[in-house]
Amino acid sequence: MAKSHLRRLGDRWLGTEPAQRLRLRQTSLAMLLMAVSVVMLHHGVALTQGKAGALTWAWTVYAVGGMALVYAAIRSGWSLRFADPSLTTVQIAFALSAAALAYAQVGPLRGAVFPVLTLVQMFGMFQLRARSAYGLAAYALVLFGAVMATMSWLRPEAYPAEFERIHFLMLACMLPAVAVLTARLSRIRHRLADQRQELARALAQLHAIATRDELTGLPNRRQMQALMDQELLRSLRQGHDFCIAVLDLDHFKRINDQHGHAAGDTVLRAFAQTGQAALRATDVIARWGGEEFLVLLPDTAMPLALVGMERLRLQVAAQRIDMGSGMPVSVTVSIGLTGHRRGDTLAQTLERADQLLYQAKAEGRDRICEGP
Ligand code: GH3
Ligand code: MG
Ligand code: MG
Repeated sequence: MAKSHLRRLGDRWLGTEPAQRLRLRQTSLAMLLMAVSVVMLHHGVALTQGKAGALTWAWTVYAVGGMALVYAAIRSGWSLRFADPSLTTVQIAFALSAAALAYAQVGPLRGAVFPVLTLVQMFGMFQLRARSAYGLAAYALVLFGAVMATMSWLRPEAYPAEFERIHFLMLACMLPAVAVLTARLSRIRHRLADQRQELARALAQLHAIATRDELTGLPNRRQMQALMDQELLRSLRQGHDFCIAVLDLDHFKRINDQHGHAAGDTVLRAFAQTGQAALRATDVIARWGGEEFLVLLPDTAMPLALVGMERLRLQVAAQRIDMGSGMPVSVTVSIGLTGHRRGDTLAQTLERADQLLYQAKAEGRDRICEGP
């Protein structure tokens, strides 16, 4: 009970979108640190100066209001319009400014501000690019330099100039050092991202090589085997029919002999395109080898399968394939078509389709022989 209540509260504070939750979690941590800093500053001011004055209250409004604005900008989704919706640079610049203004108020306790500075810089390690990290370090250095100079001029008894010089030199070493580390992390992050992208590209390429026939772009033999295995399982589970057709181009050797092997390749590509276009989107045509193709008609019974294959045969026969020589070539196809019988193996069905193809060739080609 209490747990789900807590989760609801968390959802309300962070939202439910994972990337936004991550950003808001980070900002919540910053808010918590800011709250601690507010308490500590008030405590420090009370110790060193007695009562908190208008300046301290103005600082408190700035610190709390700034954090509230940042939270609202992210939580509302307003910040999504920027390249970095976490507003990292803005948050860090704001926190560095708050730290510099706190430094001016706590006199002898000002050393406590330095570790906070490093912590603020570390918030950028997950997000910032090298240039922003260096920019923010320079901004902090200029800001602190100005505060130190001003305070040693206004209140030399609390901020002796020679002390502030040492403080400044210390910062001049520390701030750039953290920026260097941030820049290095940024480079590692980008290299990793590049590598990930490259890997994804290589994987996609490998997948295409493993599943596609290079010449025609159709699914290759291995992919077709996998698709038929899948269809067999589906048909067993759901009790539907499917058909398989074996296709072989007629007198293809002649095309090679008369026009050359390259022309033969062009014909194969053209056939693949026409065949695919003639079929329904759910049917699959694959290159089975050489000038032999296989068609899988999932969830299809014979009469409909025959209509589809007849459409393909006619469109192939009607096609004039341009060879660029002004002498278009045409080609016909013989087809053996059969339905898968429950209880048979795929190999048995393919064997039957092969026999029917043989019959179609024997009967004169450019035709379909079908059987149950
Ligand atoms: P049939 O009507 O009896 O099938 O006669 P056919 O000439 O088509 O005879 P067959 O199927 O035996 O011949 C296939 C030819 O296809 C032989 C081979 O050179 C050619 N071939 C196979 N693969 C390719 C290829 O990738 N490109 C080209 N250009 N030709 C190929
Ligand atoms: Mg042939
Ligand atoms: Mg052949």
